Amino acid sequence: MWKMRLPPAGDLNAQLNAALVHINGTVVYELSPEERQSIHDLYARYDEFYGEPHHTLNPEALNACRNALHDAYGQVQVSGRLSTMRARLLDAAPECPFCGAAPATTLDHHLPKDDYRSLSINPRNLIPSCQPCNRAKGTLEPVAGEGIIHTYFQTLPEETFLVAQTSYADGTLVVSFSVDEQVAPPPLSERLTFQIGRLKLDDRLAKSINTFLFELKPGLELLRDIPDPREFIKNHLLKAGVSFDRSFGLNHWKAAVVRGLAACDSFLDDPWSYLDNEAVFMAELDEEVLL
Ligand SMILES: [Zn+2]
Repeated sequence: MWKMRLPPAGDLNAQLNAALVHINGTVVYELSPEERQSIHDLYARYDEFYGEPHHTLNPEALNACRNALHDAYGQVQVSGRLSTMRARLLDAAPECPFCGAAPATTLDHHLPKDDYRSLSINPRNLIPSCQPCNRAKGTLEPVAGEGIIHTYFQTLPEETFLVAQTSYADGTLVVSFSVDEQVAPPPLSERLTFQIGRLKLDDRLAKSINTFLFELKPGLELLRDIPDPREFIKNHLLKAGVSFDRSFGLNHWKAAVVRGLAACDSFLDDPWSYLDNEAVFMAELDEEVLL
């Protein structure tokens, strides 16, 4: 979650040819040598600015071909001439990097393609995403240093910054995600907090958290009959957090949730009233069937 390895740029001339020339050789748009060079320069500038918005990313030299490049994004679809680029980018994401709760089945333009038309098929501007995250991000107005972090370029602390504030009362578990500003000071914390809100992660992960905790139940079940299991349950949850860090990288929501539960006294006092409440999980199942 949050961060992915920078994808290889690939052969840009081959990408442009595939984008702008039909299989039968019919040319959609004939790039002049100057335009081709400008696109190379533009992609290099995009990397230089780490994908942050900048006026030089909309160069006048590309005014004549920018609509052709914008429309060529259609070729980055499953049956398009750039479908291998699509597959390569999506295959690199084991799950949606924005939420960590669904498969990445779409590509999100970090800089929106309607604002930065000439970057529409730049693979480093295309971020694997699940559909709900892509939809929730929407056409965010790009402003340098604000908004959603760049999944390929953002530098993140090599420590845990995602916090899951967890409260449990009357059989209801409420989890709210936030960012530890001691670990990720502003302006990074502001961007991460904005991202959590924009993507509605608290609401959207609630269902995944229920399912996830049901999966954790067999491990906790082993501790049920030992006398005074509170500390054992806490340690079990903290160990699970370390294991999730190793499996998913730092700051996955699952690691944050188990740490949140390990710090939640009311859950530690009586986890069974939640875990044994099959109505919670059956309701989730019913909802899935209805969907
Ligand atoms: Zn997502």
